[in-house]
Amino acid sequence: MNFEISRKRMVETQLIARGIADQRVIDAMLKIPRHLFVEEAMATNAYSDSPLPIGEKQTISQPYMVALMTELLNLSGGERVLEIGTGSGYQAAILATLVDRVYTIERFRPLALRARRVLDSLHLLNVNLKIGDGSVGWPEEAPFDAIIVTAGAPDIPAPLLQQLSVGGRLVIPVGNQFEQVLKRVTRTADGFQSEQSVGCRFVKLVGKAGWGIEE
Ligand code: SAM
Repeated sequence: MNFEISRKRMVETQLIARGIADQRVIDAMLKIPRHLFVEEAMATNAYSDSPLPIGEKQTISQPYMVALMTELLNLSGGERVLEIGTGSGYQAAILATLVDRVYTIERFRPLALRARRVLDSLHLLNVNLKIGDGSVGWPEEAPFDAIIVTAGAPDIPAPLLQQLSVGGRLVIPVGNQFEQVLKRVTRTADGFQSEQSVGCRFVKLVGKAGWGIEE
């Protein structure tokens, strides 16, 4: 299987055809080898139009969702971005090619360790990865120019709003455990502005400022 051809086809048919227009996002999706972020047995499915299992009952998101959320962050380069829910590390890799520094948090150690290995193998050295509850953000490294949450939350976590810089964007799926709406919240000089994008379905944002702590 020629992964480069599959990746190009994915970008054309799943992203550009559905309206993804930010050339920097398109270039990042063309560049990052998504098949390295899934188990070897699943590599041939890596460019299909769907999420895939990555272990621990978690998923790598559908390519379109990764591209859309990245586009909604409105990144121009030079930003410091926080991601909640490292999972496979794929979204972090896309961000790492677009911005100055990425901070990413994953609650499952095995996923975090695997993601770290793949990111290192691709020499994406501008990613700081931490294991823990990302629903409360990463206060020691705040403020962030952009925050992306790749798990579904019941409400927008207050700590994440507090950790946005003025002008910063937060992209997050909000809803119940079965369906959510993608929201973008922008911090302004005097408050927050919220917009809605598409409907979506993500695994739960577990944690103190998410659906609660799970043992
Ligand atoms: N961004 C990932 C990727 O590119 O593969 C996909 C993320 S997957 C849909 C959601 C991830 O969020 C899971 O790996 C899950 O363990 C993680 N997660 C859920 N709640 C979390 C929390 N409070 N803190 C950190 N990670 C969390």
